[in-house]
Amino acid sequence: MKKAAVAIVLLFTLTFFAAAQAPAKGLKVFISVDMEGITGVVNWDDVTVGGLDYGLFRKLMTQEVNAAVEAAQAAGAAEIVVRDAHDTGRNILPDLLNPGAKLLRDWSYGPLSMMEGIDKTFDAVIFIGYHARASTPNGVLKHTMTTKLLDVIINGLKMPEAGVNALIAGMFDVPVVLVTGDKAICGQARDLFGDVETVMVKEGIGSAELGLSPQAAQAQIREKTIAALRRVKAFKPYKLAPPYTLDVAFADEAGAQKASWIPGAVRKDEHTVSFKADDVMTLIKLFRLAKM
Ligand SMILES: [Zn+2]
Repeated sequence: MKKAAVAIVLLFTLTFFAAAQAPAKGLKVFISVDMEGITGVVNWDDVTVGGLDYGLFRKLMTQEVNAAVEAAQAAGAAEIVVRDAHDTGRNILPDLLNPGAKLLRDWSYGPLSMMEGIDKTFDAVIFIGYHARASTPNGVLKHTMTTKLLDVIINGLKMPEAGVNALIAGMFDVPVVLVTGDKAICGQARDLFGDVETVMVKEGIGSAELGLSPQAAQAQIREKTIAALRRVKAFKPYKLAPPYTLDVAFADEAGAQKASWIPGAVRKDEHTVSFKADDVMTLIKLFRLAKM
């Protein structure tokens, strides 16, 4: 090949790689943050106000969010909303949060809950510090919204909080691109969503955990956030075909008895109450009422 031809091929190759690696400019990213799936967290005391190490894990939670925020900015995010979605909704330390993000704190008691603040203008959703659904073997602090529930089943699929929240994002046509937490939730997220990036920061061993160092976990969160946002167009919003059925199984029969009063509810067995809905918002509202 002549020198000129070589130069042209080289130029095309470089342009192609530059385009493939270029940050997607002006992305809007929504980050919903729970605490049970933060690196090192293993006991309810770690994630409860007044707990011995709660202050430490608030700091690590904030650092994991910052890792995602910094990486999102590097990948071209122009706007980032962080939703503090654990317990009081007041865990992330505002003074340590990367100033590139806005922070949504506390509860409005609207139906979007852990996804409050999301709308159709966002390009991607990231879940940081998430945990496995109730009744998962070796899931660190596994539960679904409340420790009162054994299972939440939508259209026959057992749902972790990540599944319910992904359906809410899907209602606004926004895909979930990254989930971080323990091994169990990473597996459940891949089973439900298919193509999703995950960062496994720890693995449950009974009620113990084997985990990465916070620095190693944050490095992986940076790496996977960039990887996800660079190919953001490849992800599909999570949707299930209507009509919807929702089965909520309560650990305690009293919960099932109370939920069975909700108009349209059908008591299926000792633990389970069943609902039907034609749209995701109605489904979510029924779920919020049922678990009260
Ligand atoms: Zn939580």
